[in-house]
Amino acid sequence: MRFLELAEILDKIESTTKRLEMVELISSLLRRAEDDIRETVFLLQGKVAPDYEGIELGIAEKIAIRALASLSGLKEATIETELVKKGDLGKIGEELLRNKKQVSLLSEELTVKKVYGSLLKISKASGGGSQTRKLQILLDLLQNADPVEVRYLLRIVTGKMRIGVADMTIVDSIAVAFGTKDKSDLVEGAYNIMPNLPELAYRAMSGGIDSLASLKVTPGIPIRSMLAERLPSLSEILEKMDGRFAIEYKYDGLRTQVHKIGDKVELFSRRLENVTSQFPDIVEEIGKSVKAQIAILDGEAVPFNLDTNEMLPFQEISRRRGRKYDLKETIQKIPVVLFLFDAMMINGTNLMDVPYAQRRLKLTNTIEESQNIKIAKSRVVSDIESADRFFNEALEAGCEGIMAKSIEDKSVYKPGAREFLWIKYKREYQLEMEDTVDLVVVGAFGGQGKRSGGYGALLMAVYSREEDKFRTVCKLGSGFSDEQLDNLPRMLKPYSLKSRDHRVESTIDADFWFTPSLVLEVKGAEITLSPTHTCCRDVVKKGAGLAIRFPRFTGKWRTDKKADEATNEQEIIEMYHSQRKKVLADNA
Ligand code: ATP
Repeated sequence: MRFLELAEILDKIESTTKRLEMVELISSLLRRAEDDIRETVFLLQGKVAPDYEGIELGIAEKIAIRALASLSGLKEATIETELVKKGDLGKIGEELLRNKKQVSLLSEELTVKKVYGSLLKISKASGGGSQTRKLQILLDLLQNADPVEVRYLLRIVTGKMRIGVADMTIVDSIAVAFGTKDKSDLVEGAYNIMPNLPELAYRAMSGGIDSLASLKVTPGIPIRSMLAERLPSLSEILEKMDGRFAIEYKYDGLRTQVHKIGDKVELFSRRLENVTSQFPDIVEEIGKSVKAQIAILDGEAVPFNLDTNEMLPFQEISRRRGRKYDLKETIQKIPVVLFLFDAMMINGTNLMDVPYAQRRLKLTNTIEESQNIKIAKSRVVSDIESADRFFNEALEAGCEGIMAKSIEDKSVYKPGAREFLWIKYKREYQLEMEDTVDLVVVGAFGGQGKRSGGYGALLMAVYSREEDKFRTVCKLGSGFSDEQLDNLPRMLKPYSLKSRDHRVESTIDADFWFTPSLVLEVKGAEITLSPTHTCCRDVVKKGAGLAIRFPRFTGKWRTDKKADEATNEQEIIEMYHSQRKKVLADNA
């Protein structure tokens, strides 16, 4: 098939907003594509491979501009200025090359196969001289292209397929092309377990649309992630779940799907991109922790401070992205723990159709927990109090809320679906604490790894003026420079005690205790209810204290303050209430 045919369809799609019309146009194209069907669908998507294969068709805009400059005789700078003004290199190229197509014995019509093949070569070019090779391939395509072909070639190679034919539009188009619109659900079901539309189009064409029903989950090909609905309160969740449900920590990291096939491990993101190379530490640990030859598992990768055993804010993990060169260092600086919460396949048995409890059992039986691989915390609850306690526990541990999961017979793993089998319940508010607090060091925990021999984290407290007590409010392990960490034992030595100071109230057993003296300035994300910390216990809520979430040392030692001048309980309560007021106002 000529590439011109595809480009003209893309042009028509661009000028309609009606989805039905798009489906008509694409399905008629698919019917005509025959042997070129896979390549046709890839080009419609502006790709050369499914996302999970990790083959990027990246050609830098600069190279595309260079190609246009060389063919049009204009300066690169002039084209760059045009691009800033118009923002679409495709349209600029179309205009510039309108009358430049080579008409000679050497010129050849562009076919879908030829374009796809050239793009694949571009995507695979690497190493020395690869930029020149990419430029040459692009020049060759552009020289033989009609104006409308130039527009789409340029958009595809620079990764800006503007019209962006949505995956679901292609799903419907496959159904209409090789069956009827009613078959859309069937195609979508296949797409959920094999998110490779060119392959599905090919199979529908060659084996008939109904052949898609027999597609099986394949290790190595990611499954679309099951998603969650949301409800505004735990009581509504309890009602929706008929009075009983599994409650899990909702970790705040990156959704990560694990495929283990013998010695090979592949990791996929929520968007089904292959992210294996970003997590060599997880890959290695999975090899040891997963006691099955073949497994497909679902989880959340969370940045973690292994020395203090604390979760870190989600943003930290993104520092791993695109770090090919110093990945080794990044792995050490930003360790990641993968919390597994589901199993879709174990040893070749597809578990997606069995209820939650059975999948969870299989998961726990298959995983041997390690430093970097853990099983998500979970419990079955049937009353609000327990659910609420678990919720607060999750927040205190650094999670963003809980996931409620149905445990009824119908609680299968539904790929790509957002239904009430899973319900998320997050904290409503997310803010920086407006002010810093000054906290007193009352205890410490032995460090591990880089911090071994020193302290991994400090136990921090606020002061109660009325009762002359120091009550714990957080563990503090973040924000210290290496030098500050090294100095801590020396600074704390004069205050060292054999056991807890009688003025310190703590339910946490620290490794080291100190006379409350040293005051540090700390900034946190917010103040939350806490089942463990003793600060303001029973004041806001029976059985709960208050804690500071994600505390960080600001670098300021408040040596100008004595322990009894540190932030007091009353101030923490005021901060908690003003934070809530602000949230209510923001949400109003
Ligand atoms: P959504 O996934 O609902 O579109 P989103 O991307 O903003 O929205 P969240 O609102 O954070 O995600 O909620 C769902 C996500 O929570 C999941 O995709 C998963 O990454 C994460 N998650 C963390 N812990 C769990 C858990 N125990 N079970 C399921 N998902 C979890």
